[in-house]
Amino acid sequence: MKSIYDKTVDVLMFREGSDEDSNSTTPIITTGSIVWGVLLRATIVLIAFFFVMDSIRGNDYWWVSLFFIWAFVAFPAYRQYEKYAKRIENFVEETLCGSCIHFNKGAQSCNIYDEHVSKDYIPCEGESWEPR
Ligand code: SF4
Repeated sequence: MKSIYDKTVDVLMFREGSDEDSNSTTPIITTGSIVWGVLLRATIVLIAFFFVMDSIRGNDYWWVSLFFIWAFVAFPAYRQYEKYAKRIENFVEETLCGSCIHFNKGAQSCNIYDEHVSKDYIPCEGESWEPR
């Protein structure tokens, strides 16, 4: 079980989903964690940029913040989303839950049991499975 500190660092660093994540009963990377990471990083970048611009007394270079947002927020989030989408695609192909109508791709969970599913954990053990 990860601490809140570790979870926050995962989100902040956009840690890529590892094999360990693929087999974990609680996925680390979800659409929610990516959105949360974007908000957290964008806030930090904008606050840091505000202080830097304030210290050099120049608002003429505000557009430089767009570069930092691209480099530290948008691009890492895009890469993380690509990785997440690929993992979900594999998960859908390889697992029983992936082919079930009750599977929630965004949260990697079951809508009926309200639990995360994994390659090794099927909450209903196949009894509630229905085709898409
Ligand atoms: S109903 Fe069963 S097979 Fe379908 S997503 Fe939920 S746990 Fe998986």
